[in-house]
This record gives sequence, structure tokens and C-alpha cells, in this order.
Amino acid sequence: MMGKGDVIVKEYKMTRRQFLKRTGMAAAATAATSAYLNTTEALASTEVPAPRPVGKYIQSEEWADGAVIETDLLIIGTGFAGLWAAITAADQGVKSIAVVDKGSIGNSSNASMTGGGTFFLHPGEDKMDWMKELVPISDYLSRQDMWDDQLTTSYSRMEKLKSWGLEYKDMIPMVAPRVSIDGFKHVALNGNPVWNGLTAGKAVTGMLRDQMQKRKGIRYFSKTMITRLLKQDGKIAGAVGVHRVNGKAAVFKAKAVIISTGQCSFRGQYAVTEIQTGDGYALAYNAGATMTNMEFLSFETVPGVYGEEGACLKGTFGCRLLNSENRDFMWDYNPKDGLGGPARITTRAMAKEVREGRGPIRMDQTTFTFTLLGQRIWRSMLIYTEWQKLNEYRLDDTGHDVTEKPEIFYVGSFGIIGAVKADIGCGTTIPGLYVAGITLSQDPGMIKGAESARAMWSGQKSAMSAADYISHAPDVKLDLDYAEAERKAALKPLGRTDGRTPNEILFKLQEIIFDYNVSILKNESRLRDALQKVIAIKESDLPVMTAADTHELIKYYETHNMVECAELYLRASLERRETRECHYREDYPETNNKEWLKWINLTKGADGQPVIALEAVPFDQYPIKPPKEV
Ligand SMILES: Cc1cc2nc3c(=O)[nH]c(=O)nc-3n(C[C@H](O)[C@H](O)[C@H](O)COP(=O)(O)OP(=O)(O)OC[C@H]3O[C@@H](n4cnc5c(N)ncnc54)[C@H](O)[C@@H]3O)c2cc1C
Repeated sequence: MMGKGDVIVKEYKMTRRQFLKRTGMAAAATAATSAYLNTTEALASTEVPAPRPVGKYIQSEEWADGAVIETDLLIIGTGFAGLWAAITAADQGVKSIAVVDKGSIGNSSNASMTGGGTFFLHPGEDKMDWMKELVPISDYLSRQDMWDDQLTTSYSRMEKLKSWGLEYKDMIPMVAPRVSIDGFKHVALNGNPVWNGLTAGKAVTGMLRDQMQKRKGIRYFSKTMITRLLKQDGKIAGAVGVHRVNGKAAVFKAKAVIISTGQCSFRGQYAVTEIQTGDGYALAYNAGATMTNMEFLSFETVPGVYGEEGACLKGTFGCRLLNSENRDFMWDYNPKDGLGGPARITTRAMAKEVREGRGPIRMDQTTFTFTLLGQRIWRSMLIYTEWQKLNEYRLDDTGHDVTEKPEIFYVGSFGIIGAVKADIGCGTTIPGLYVAGITLSQDPGMIKGAESARAMWSGQKSAMSAADYISHAPDVKLDLDYAEAERKAALKPLGRTDGRTPNEILFKLQEIIFDYNVSILKNESRLRDALQKVIAIKESDLPVMTAADTHELIKYYETHNMVECAELYLRASLERRETRECHYREDYPETNNKEWLKWINLTKGADGQPVIALEAVPFDQYPIKPPKEV
């Protein structure tokens, strides 16, 4: 974790309270960041302006029930990807754009909650040096064509961001704006984005939202959940949306659609994954698009009593995971790095310890070494992003001191890393349908900063492709009777009170998917059993799911989508008979490059069942080749 040129000034142990006191913070967390910066003589001063409120959600118009909203391009979801897409499409001359979000446009996405660290290849750096490091992280299932394009164009995006006023400042005092991560020699993360009084992900989304609003021809529909895509003559023709507050439904008639709705996390316990219900996955899959890499579900270590990002990083600074016998067990599983290794190894080890009766697992942070770099990491993890300040307040409020005694840690799900398969222009197999951000599958590996880099690249790329498509596409001939029937169907469940609530079904689903014997430690019989249970939910529970009011109607759709994603996840997990990246098969514990350098693709068949096809990774077209001996 040491950044280039970093020096350990002094190694000593102190409690968090001593640390806060020393750095002039104590319980006065209100002025947390600036106090910290001002009073630590060893740390250079960096001005971090106070956050400013972002304001009310944006909405162009109220629509009447049954409205048909006509547009050239419909963009669904406004995280990094959707915002970049809207700006790019307008700049490419698309005259009419409708932007929808089931939350508040540009303001309630995962993107706005992130640390904002991301990748830009700087001038003079060698793209191949980066690819040689990035591709092995995904055990060679990377889309190298996408990485190539993304890295080639990345600095131009940074320059654009700069020209709009966004700066990447020092991540934490005295660490350069760029830091090496994940043990990479060349790949470096651009830290701390700052814009107009905002920091981290909020600075980026705030600035992009601002830029988007400066463009002409864009209409905004916040609180609007897209529930179904519409097709005509095999091409995309629009979508149906339901307003999550007033329950009205509308038809969007569009020549092209970009789906940028984020991931599917089954509402697992990791910070801010509430919105990640796999909506875009289900929209695309049900419209006939192909899904890929669906067997990869990532996990993180999570504290029991507060939220925190990057707990795994603490392994590098002397923290330990202890089992019920007080054994620092990570060295048994990762003799080289212990807790300092990738999250997939740590979470796998935690699951094994618990299964063998040595749970619960506790994180011992009393051994955290407050080196100079350690202090910075500690601070950045606890309060750096906007929402993490809440943890600081909560910890102070309860008097909870994480450095006093070991405390329970468990495993939280981060989300399915696979998603919709796309071509190099982010197009799907359906003419007019594009995907961007986490809804597009590029890589099954977990690399810090890669997701937002992909979101910005693919947001831009998908919009350029869509703009080109729109400029050639004839007008959409949407059969309005069909569209109206779909619109009415979207509201049909509304008012149903008899049956199973979305939450009941979700909890049932979570019990199946989050069983560590199914998701972390997989084998054939347990996966089959889980699949049968999910199919039973699909056949018996979904048809009687309630939607008592508009609020529950939204949950109705979200739950439907998560159940569909769960089925695809389990089917793909069963298919991959080897271990790769975070997909760990106890019955096939080895990585098998001879047979499995293949993507598993799933497409909905004519009978409604998923059809699985294997696709060999085209290494003849890719510069980075897998090692022969594995
Ligand atoms: C705590 C945390 C910290 C992170 N830190 C980093 C980091 O530092 N660097 C990094 O690279 N990545 C980070 N990530 C990952 C990060 O989430 C992604 O990089 C980023 O959010 C991807 O942007 P996106 O545009 O694809 O999707 P999102 O940001 O998830 O946006 C999706 C949007 O789609 C909307 N939506 C969903 N379904 C529908 C629907 N049916 N109809 C209408 N709208 C819909 C949602 O409301 C949301 O606004 C972090 C994630 C978390 C949870």
C-alpha cells in the first residue's frame, strides 16, 4: 500500500480517540476534515471545502396517465454512465433526449456515494503496461478490446472533466493525486475529485449533472422507474415507465435506448446498494439481449455495527481477523499477504472458518499501526466519502471505539459483476439498444476504480454509438395499441393486497443466495438445490406478489428483477465447472485454462427459458495471452 516516495515517519500504536485527539478532532466531528488537516504538523495542508447542498430533484414536466413521450434517445439511470451519456448525446447533436431515473436524477445513484477514485491513463504512460496488470486480475476473461479503447480515450475524458472545473486533488495529505493500488506497478488511481465545494463521487455527479443541465434538448423524469422495454420489428422502440410517487404510467417512444441502471446486489449488506436491483439486467434480458459473466458475485468484509468501505485494506496496517479460538487465521489461507490479499480470498476464508465451527469472526483493529500512511488510510476509510461521515457521528454518539476491542465482521455482497454483453460500441444484439456503466459487462474481476472508469467510458461510448444510429434510423413505428397494452399491464398488479409481499419474497431469496454454502463456497448439489428453490419462488410466489400501493409496486418490479438475476446467477454458476476469480467451486477447486477460458452467455429462449452458450475468449485478437501452464 505504500505510495511511491512515502516514508514511515514513526510506528506507534494509539487508540482511535487518541488519534482523533492528537489530530485535533476528538468528538468534534463536525469540522472533522479541516481540523484534521490543520493540526497535524506532519501532514501538508490541503483545503477541503465544505460540502454544499445539491438541491431538489430535477423534473421537466408532470405527465398525465397514458402519456406518450416521444424522444430520439431514452437514457435510463443517471449514475456516472447515464450522465456522461446525456452530455455526450447532446454534444453529438441528438436533438431530443429523455433522461429518467427511479431516484433523483444525478443525485441518488451509487455513483454519487462513491469515493470517486478512478483510472485515467496519463500521457507518456504505456497502455500495454496497464493491460498486462489489469487482464490477469480477471483471470483473463477481460474484454481486452474494451480496455484498449477505454485506456486510449481516458485522458481526453479527464481533460473534459478538468475543463468543466473538476480537479483530482491529493487523496489524503501528502499522497499524490494518484496512488498505486492492488499491488499494481503501473495502474494508478486518481483520487479525491473536488468540484464546487463537493468531494468524492458527489463532486463528479454534481458536476456532470450541472453540465447536463446546460445542454439543450434534454427532458428530465426523476422518480420514474422503467419497467419494460418496447420493441417493434425486432428493433428497440421505447419503454414503459411508472412514476414511483403518483403511480402514473407513461410510454416513452424512442429510436434508441441506453440502459445505465447499475448492478444487481440483491440488497445485500454493503453500504449503499439499495437501488441495485438488477433492473437493467432484467430489462435487457427480457427484451432478448445476451447476458455474460453472470456467475461472478463479489463480496466484501463488513463491520457489524457501522458501515465502512475498504475494511480489507486494514490488513496491510496490522489489523487481523480472528476466529472464535482467537487465531489470526488469514495466514493459513494466504501465507503471502494474510488479510492484505483480495477480498475474494478473505471472504472465502471467513466462510470456511464459520462452517468449521470457528465463528463468529472478529476484526482486531487494536493492532492497527498508525504509521503516517496508516493514519491517512484510516481517515480516508472512515470519513472521506460524504456518507462515511455518518459513521463517524454514529461511532462518537455511541462511544464505540473500534480500536478498543475486536468486533464482529461478516461478509456482505457487493453485487453480480457480470451483466449485459455488448459490442465495442456498447451496442447489444437488439438494434437501438445500448448499455453502459455497471450494466455492461467488461470484466469479471474486482479492481478498485475500474467500475467508475468503465461507467464514464461506456456512458460516452454508448451515446456516440446511439447518436450515430439515430442519425441513420428511420422514424420508429410504434404500434400504439401494443404500447398502451404494455402500459396498462405495468399497472395491473397495483392494488393487489392478497398474497406475498415483495419483502417476504426478497428475504426468502436472500436466504438462498447469501447462504455462504451457495454463493461463496459453491458446489453442484448446493447450487442445484438453490436453483430449484429460486424456480419455486418464480413459479409460486411471484404470481401472487402484492403491490398494495405505488411504493410497493416499485418493490414488486425490483423483486421480480432480482429473482430473475438470481436464476441466471445460479445457472451460470452451475455451468462453470472450475474456479476463477470470485467464482469458487469446491468440487472444481482449480482454475482450468485448458477448458474454461470461455464466457458463459445467457439469452432468453423462445420458451422463456435461459439458453446457455459458451464463447471462447478470442486471444488471437487480444494482446495479453493467458499463461500456458494453468
Ligand atoms: C460505497 C461505494 C463506494 C464505491 N467507490 C468506488 C470508487 O471509489 N471507484 C469506483 O470506480 N467505483 C466505486 N464504487 C462502485 C460504483 O458504484 C460504480 O463505479 C458507479 O456507481 C457505477 O455507475 P453507474 O452509472 O454504472 O451506476 P449507478 O451509479 O449505480 O447508477 C444507476 C442509476 O440507475 C437508476 N436506476 C436503476 N434502475 C432503474 C430503473 N428501472 N429505471 C430508472 N432508473 C433506474 C438508479 O436509481 C441510479 O441512479 C463504489 C460503490 C459503493 C457502493
